[in-house]
Amino acid sequence: MLGLHQDHPLLISAILEHAAVNYADVAIVSHAGAEIIRTDYARLAARTRRLASSLRAEGFRPGSFTGSLAWNTHRHLELFYAVTGIGAVLHTANPRLTPSQIAYTVNFTGYDTLFIDLDTLALAEQLAPQLPNTTRYVIMTARELMPHTALTNVVCYEDLIDVGKDNFSWPVLDERTASTLCFTSGTTGDPKGALYTHRGCVLSALSSGGGNGWALSADDGILAVPGYFHCNGWAVPFLAPMYGTRLVMPGRNMDTAFLHRLIMEEDVTVGPAVPTIWLQMLDYCRAHNLRLSNLNRLFTGGTAPPAVMIDAYLRDYDVRTFHAWGMTETTHLSTSSFIPRDLPRDAAIEKMRSQGKPVFGNEIRIVDDRGALVAHDGTTPGHLQVRGHWIAGSYFRRPDIALMTEDGWMQTGDVVVIDPDNSMHIVDRAKDVIKSGGEWISSQALEEATNRHARVVESAVIAVEHPRWQERPLLIIVGEAGASLTADDVRAHLIPLVPKWWLPDAVAFVDELPHGPTGKIQKDVLRLWLQDGKIRP
Ligand code: AMP
Repeated sequence: MLGLHQDHPLLISAILEHAAVNYADVAIVSHAGAEIIRTDYARLAARTRRLASSLRAEGFRPGSFTGSLAWNTHRHLELFYAVTGIGAVLHTANPRLTPSQIAYTVNFTGYDTLFIDLDTLALAEQLAPQLPNTTRYVIMTARELMPHTALTNVVCYEDLIDVGKDNFSWPVLDERTASTLCFTSGTTGDPKGALYTHRGCVLSALSSGGGNGWALSADDGILAVPGYFHCNGWAVPFLAPMYGTRLVMPGRNMDTAFLHRLIMEEDVTVGPAVPTIWLQMLDYCRAHNLRLSNLNRLFTGGTAPPAVMIDAYLRDYDVRTFHAWGMTETTHLSTSSFIPRDLPRDAAIEKMRSQGKPVFGNEIRIVDDRGALVAHDGTTPGHLQVRGHWIAGSYFRRPDIALMTEDGWMQTGDVVVIDPDNSMHIVDRAKDVIKSGGEWISSQALEEATNRHARVVESAVIAVEHPRWQERPLLIIVGEAGASLTADDVRAHLIPLVPKWWLPDAVAFVDELPHGPTGKIQKDVLRLWLQDGKIRP
């Protein structure tokens, strides 16, 4: 027998309307190039409805694709809702990819209209000759700031808002309708697309915003650092209106002093960003003897934050680190650390280092090389597999790439250990782990231990072939400018921190490490350096 609850599809447009009604005057601050816009959810929703009606009048239909190449601003947020709300799909192209990768993702998707902002105009001009299908550019800026440009067929975004209708109402769509499309950063081969659904986006925000995840409420203010093109901006475009939080969007500017000013002046309580941003903030606060006002939690992921960073924020600033794991293929987070309030400090830091447990709606498991299940015993590593409502079931138009197991779990490519209480600890990417004499050495753990040396700025570990052990770690280090640092210094530092057989036989020093568009060290580039003799074991 069916129950008697009402049946409404889970749609993204409902999130914005919820905020417009219930958190109408909650502040939204947007730094869009030279413009600083102060608005609220009611006004943002009104503009979004007008934009949606214009898009529809222009012929956008359920299933149409369009794209954005833009930083986090109120206009990009409006676009997120307007496009998805009418059943069309927004490809948020990632301006941090290489131009040829961006062109690949736009052409692979195929659409005629690309929304850009003033800070991506030069990039769009450079890309335009490579985008044969993209024949129209909408510049997301004020009319008086419309630039001279080499692009042809250019429209001002504000004109679309002006001709829109106030009385537009959102269509009722199937909740499995595609909403947004994000591509992986393509470290191996071409970027791969993850095509999200309305249902997955709504459920993931509902679940991850709760107490064991982001723990959001209308008391909070979020600084939207993660680009809307990376994992849906870590769901901030959905979480903020759903939970009625203040929303501060910095646009393109990721300068530490600027982000610090926003935290102080705009009453930011939650800061989502990759660890690099928070490490720079820590240095900046220390160097200038600054506080962090009402910021009380960092929300971090992408790579594991160092324990010293977690410790320093907690000890010196009373800021807790909420640590999450996710990937483009999991929309944003899948697991998140939870730190009970009464834990002693050391135990709390240990908890914050874990990538945490699945939020409701996700499950995790580990398997060995042959696919057999591995126990969640806190010591045995295995290949991580996940399943849930917002986990990709296949790649966009790439049925040739195997993503799933036969029994319906997504293969992540990460190697992890899972505790008996189901808390997860990332060991490494499967392709980065060093297989030494049948045992695994975690390149990430070795890097973290190395980075604790006061004169090490950054480090990376890759495998080199070894006749006896199969593989051994090569440690590559960027030392502090002017500091004399030897391989023996580093090995002496590592002895108490890692098992003896992990100690790298070879240490190389370089001026800089190569980083990808999401801040991760590009180990495939390091492997090429090794092959080309640019670094030597
Ligand atoms: P991306 O698709 O660019 O978001 O990259 C996803 C990958 O980033 C994952 O498969 C992990 O290898 C890594 N990653 C994400 N979150 C974390 C985390 N909290 N700690 C360590 N690695 C992470």
